[in-house]
Amino acid sequence: MSLPGTPEHPLRVAVVGAGPSGFYAIEHLLRQDGLAVEIDLFDRLPTPYGLVRGGVAPDHQKIKSVVKAYERLASHPAVRFLGHVRVGTDVTPAELAAHYHAVVWAVGAQTDRALGIPGEGLAGSHAATEFVGWYNGHPDYRDLAFDLSQEAVAVIGIGNVAMDVTRILAKGADALAATDIAPHALEALAASRVREITVLARRGPAQAACTTPELRELGELAEADVAAHADEVALDDATRAALEAADDRTALRNCEILQAYAGRAATGKRRRVTLRFLLSPAALEGEGRVTGVRAVRNRLVAGEGGDVRAVATDTHETIPAGLVFRSVGYRGVPLDGVPFDAKRGTIPNAAGRVLREAGSHEVLPGQYCVGWIKRGPSGVIGTNKPDAVETAERLLDDLREGRLPAAEGGRAALDALLAARGADVVTWADWRRLDALEVAAGQPLGRPRVKFSRIDDMLGAVRAART
Ligand code: NAP
Repeated sequence: MSLPGTPEHPLRVAVVGAGPSGFYAIEHLLRQDGLAVEIDLFDRLPTPYGLVRGGVAPDHQKIKSVVKAYERLASHPAVRFLGHVRVGTDVTPAELAAHYHAVVWAVGAQTDRALGIPGEGLAGSHAATEFVGWYNGHPDYRDLAFDLSQEAVAVIGIGNVAMDVTRILAKGADALAATDIAPHALEALAASRVREITVLARRGPAQAACTTPELRELGELAEADVAAHADEVALDDATRAALEAADDRTALRNCEILQAYAGRAATGKRRRVTLRFLLSPAALEGEGRVTGVRAVRNRLVAGEGGDVRAVATDTHETIPAGLVFRSVGYRGVPLDGVPFDAKRGTIPNAAGRVLREAGSHEVLPGQYCVGWIKRGPSGVIGTNKPDAVETAERLLDDLREGRLPAAEGGRAALDALLAARGADVVTWADWRRLDALEVAAGQPLGRPRVKFSRIDDMLGAVRAART
């Protein structure tokens, strides 16, 4: 048979995960002149957009406008959205491999990294990613509870997720009322008694993982003062020289901002955010529920390849905290029937081509990955574009070289299989109705939308709209 990609015999691609990386892979495939494609975009949720909906902070609405481009892609006649289809339950990876010439895994990193310290499981100790999912109305986190009656909170880690969580806690409900924050979170934040938020970074200010605008935002909060310890944010001459030589502007600006924070006097705002450095959590203290973070002071040593490592000293300090958010990164989860590199938390791959196992050079024909499940949880939304293009280019190379496996049946066969499994598929038209309902619910409140946060409610609204 001739190569797929003609109108009679289109290239059939399944993209699993409707977040940014999945959409950028679709965009690149649709851009190919003269290539006829049929792309099915799966998501386990009835709603698209992955972390743009469930991760980006509600007070960063501008970042969310990126979905306009995704909307156009999903509305392309070659693309179908199959929402609320759980790969592994409604359809297996092997069945996808049989029905499509290529499968692109775009499932992201769906859990948090653990600290591996005593007390991590105490009540009041949470993964920051859970809090993020909760305030963003993600159905998986809808029923979690966070004890915001606590006055002292510790956030461990100084990446952008730590910045988001700190800002949401520090802003309070009034400043978030005009966003798309989940109603249950807005209500809980309105009753919040949080006063003191301490962010703990294990290395120095020059190694802070957060980006400059996020750090700067903390200094502009109406309801919170920001502070840092001058001795912890001072830059030694050697580090400054190294940053200047490397032209690391983010680190240089971050250091300047932090030094300015250290020089600020408290203005008596109702909350305070303190950014601490060179402290690693050694244990969470408390009986049953957390009362503090026992931290060890670190010193920095230059490692091989120019990296800077934190090495523990024998000085300890306890930071009181009745609520702790562990914000030390996301982690990919394995999917039954798909290779997984347990060490890295990713699908083993070579430039996006899935490998049979970690360390192997054997490529699985027709299997690809993009985004965080490909490279790990790093970068901003835009980072996923070149990442997805790289993978899509490998897929197109394999198409041209005749290396893609055959695809059995077409969309009708896949639909029959899903129907036989009793899958309740949410289409793009269904999502558009949900979207319109959310926006309409937000309008009288001056909010961009009020999100559905329970799957049953989403499915109920979809059914009501269909009849
Ligand atoms: P991240 O940027 O990788 O930051 C993780 C933080 O945890 C770092 O400060 C890291 O310190 C620290 N850490 C790791 N292991 C630790 C340990 N055992 N003990 C103490 N600290 C530890 O991860 P993230 O904040 O989850 O963000 C994930 C990605 O999403 C990032 O690329 C981020 O930029 C992006 N994001 C972007 C935005 C935005 O653009 N506004 C918002 C949210 C997320 P070390 O540096 O010392 O390892």
